[in-house]
Amino acid sequence: MSSPSAAVKKGVAVVGGGITGLTAAWRLHAQGHRVTLFESAHRLGGAVSTVARDGWLIESGPNSLLESPQFDALVAGLGLESERLYAAPAAKNRYLVRDGRLVPVPMAPHKLLTTPLFSLRTKLRLFAEPFMRARARPADVSLAVFVRDHFGQEIVDYAINPLVAGIYAGDPETLSTKYAFAKLWEIEQTHGSLIRGQIAAMRERRARGEKPAARIVSFTRGLQTLPAALAAQLPAGAIRTRTPVISLSPGRPWKLVSRRDGLATTDEFDAVVLALPAAALAQLPIGPAGENPLTALQQVEYPPVASLFLGFRREQVAHPLDGFGALVPAVEHRAILGVLFSSTLFPGRAPEGHVALTVYVGGTRQPDLARLAPEVLRGRVLADLRDLLGVSGDPVFTHATFWPHAIPQYNLGYERFLEAMTNAEARHAGLFIGGHVRDGISVANCITAGQRLADAAAR
Ligand SMILES: Cc1cc2nc3c(=O)[nH]c(=O)nc-3n(C[C@H](O)[C@H](O)[C@H](O)COP(=O)(O)OP(=O)(O)OC[C@H]3O[C@@H](n4cnc5c(N)ncnc54)[C@H](O)[C@@H]3O)c2cc1C
Repeated sequence: MSSPSAAVKKGVAVVGGGITGLTAAWRLHAQGHRVTLFESAHRLGGAVSTVARDGWLIESGPNSLLESPQFDALVAGLGLESERLYAAPAAKNRYLVRDGRLVPVPMAPHKLLTTPLFSLRTKLRLFAEPFMRARARPADVSLAVFVRDHFGQEIVDYAINPLVAGIYAGDPETLSTKYAFAKLWEIEQTHGSLIRGQIAAMRERRARGEKPAARIVSFTRGLQTLPAALAAQLPAGAIRTRTPVISLSPGRPWKLVSRRDGLATTDEFDAVVLALPAAALAQLPIGPAGENPLTALQQVEYPPVASLFLGFRREQVAHPLDGFGALVPAVEHRAILGVLFSSTLFPGRAPEGHVALTVYVGGTRQPDLARLAPEVLRGRVLADLRDLLGVSGDPVFTHATFWPHAIPQYNLGYERFLEAMTNAEARHAGLFIGGHVRDGISVANCITAGQRLADAAAR
């Protein structure tokens, strides 16, 4: 790896040991800088959390990511190529729930003609959309408004609503098109038609020698492989877990106060990288008098999500589980947001003769359901799985995880939070902020963010 500023070695604090902070710390170290990573929890990885138990491999947080050039470079840099695991070919099928049953998502234009997912009227709109002209929207609109303009309400209800539940555990009526789906926003500006824009983007990828669509990827031992490898390559003493940062005092040098076992310690650094959730950013005093320029971030919406990993004997599930999983539109009135066919997606996730499902509940749609006691929640989930997948009996294995603040919602008006972060950086030289609150919520986005933060802090 080359750095234009490799000559000047800096002392950099990275605050937050999720995938963003770890990527930033690893890259800074690789460039020869002295790095110290502070993490409040006892473990590293943040939302990335894999558990191996009794022959099952459980992803409590993210299950997979979309491959990107930045991810590829990181995997190569860490020497993890032999552990990289692509989604099984069977996982290319996807399902949506309509009228109480699973319907395959049409993956080719000719399949759109015959799918029972959409009415004839909607199908005609889909085929007419490529004739839409480029347009300049004066202001951001919700994703639901945006998609309604192009395809009508049925696509919002039966495609976009479940898709957004699967990505953000969120609601298309409140999510911003410009910030949550920036690519769609840009495509409309340049092409008008979203379908024509997508086809053009695929052609460009092909011309660059890339695959027409990014591949779904993980590691044989799960996503935790990545934070574990990043941490293992940092020097001894560079990582301080169970050590929250409690205040920052800008200057040359920056003074950083952290706490471990009730004991406060002050360290000095040339630069500070903050790779934290919004609430932690909002609470962190940054200034000699304890002022907090990021206090507005307290208002970022972070709905709760419960993730339930359920193992069954193969014969307990009637559905062939021949796909990635199924997403559930809100209009179907179910307890679950969606279910992943985890043992189809990646081999080796369930013992021989068994299958594994991962179910998500809650989000902005039904936050109270996520907070139910695990046994009550399991009952609600099983009722849905019986109806939708023909599941019989009780699971032979259960692992429940509750995320009280799962994923930030890039809702309409999100620019005020982005501005607060930009202004704080402008006011305090040597401060760099990023990660899932600013750079996109996916693991791939966070890897890119970590690399960006490292390069900015090293400059
Ligand atoms: C249930 C769930 C499912 C998901 N599924 C997917 C998926 O399938 N694919 C995908 O691409 N993305 C998925 N995501 C999103 C993705 O996992 C996250 O956005 C991403 O991992 C966030 O990484 P991060 O490093 O920015 O933040 P985090 O992982 O939140 O890390 C921030 C770290 O900062 C620490 N911290 C907080 N306060 C302090 C402090 N004061 N001092 C020091 N440390 C502090 C926290 O303990 C935490 O470890 C999912 C997220 C969740 C919750």
